[in-house]
Formats: sequence, C-alpha cells, structure tokens
Amino acid sequence: MRVKLKAGRDQRKFIKRIEELSGENVFACYQCGRCSAGCPVASEMDLLPNQVIRLVQMGLDEEVLRSKTLFLCASCFTCESRCPKGIDMARVMEAVRHVLDPKGKDAFGPGEIPPELAQELPQQVLVSIFRKFAK
Ligand code: SF4
Ligand code: SF4
Repeated sequence: MRVKLKAGRDQRKFIKRIEELSGENVFACYQCGRCSAGCPVASEMDLLPNQVIRLVQMGLDEEVLRSKTLFLCASCFTCESRCPKGIDMARVMEAVRHVLDPKGKDAFGPGEIPPELAQELPQQVLVSIFRKFAK
C-alpha cells in the first residue's frame, strides 16, 4: 500500500474526529491482524480492517475515504469480539462513513425493504443497512 503523508494538523483533525464519532481509541490498535483474519467479507475488501485503522492512526483520510471497505463492512462485530484491545471496528467504519457524508441525508428508508426480505433477513443485516444508509 503506497501512501502520501500529509501535514500534521490535518492528520490530527481527522484522527480526533474519528475518535469523537466512534468513541474508540484508535491508537490502542497494535496491528495484530485478528480482526482481518476473522472478518467474513475480508476477501472482497480493498483495505482490510486492520489496514483501515492503521490509516486512521496515520491520519490518511483520503486513502481511507476512497475505500470500498467502508460499505462492505457488515457490522457483524466479529472483529470486536476477536480484538485483544476490544476495538469496535464497525464503529470506526461508521465514523469514517459519516466523515465521508457529513450532511447525513437518508439514502434508505424502512418502507423500501421488500416485506418478504424483511421477514427473512437476520435483524443484524437490517441494522447494518440502516447504520450505513440512514442517519
Ligand atoms: S484485532 Fe484489534 S488490535 Fe488487532 S489489528 Fe484489529 S483492531 Fe488492531
Ligand atoms: S464488523 Fe465489519 S470489519 Fe468487523 S468483522 Fe464484521 S464485516 Fe468485518
């Protein structure tokens, strides 16, 4: 992964915003990789969960914000349950998505879920959809 370092003030601002929004201490991560090893959608991601948090630690907002990983995360919390530091990556991903779209317009409403799907989908999937597409 090739990255370009930015000025310190911009980096700190981005990191602070992500920590405020997520409630997580991103610097607690020491890159053990257990989150990525257990992530059920890691094979589809362009950045693995541990890479996302590393880029956040470095304040590299552009590299994180253009990643499709943000929208592939299923908020399943597997990573949080495996993380030795208890970091909730789903919340970090959610915070980064919020920075990407701070106006927070709803892109998805409950009425748009076909009733047959609403009956069958696990509740976790529905919650994940709303966490991503409605604010
Ligand atoms: S499991 Fe936790 S400490 Fe390990 S890389 Fe992932 S976020 Fe960092
Ligand atoms: S919450 Fe997201 S990043 Fe974490 S294991 Fe589930 S899909 Fe992967």
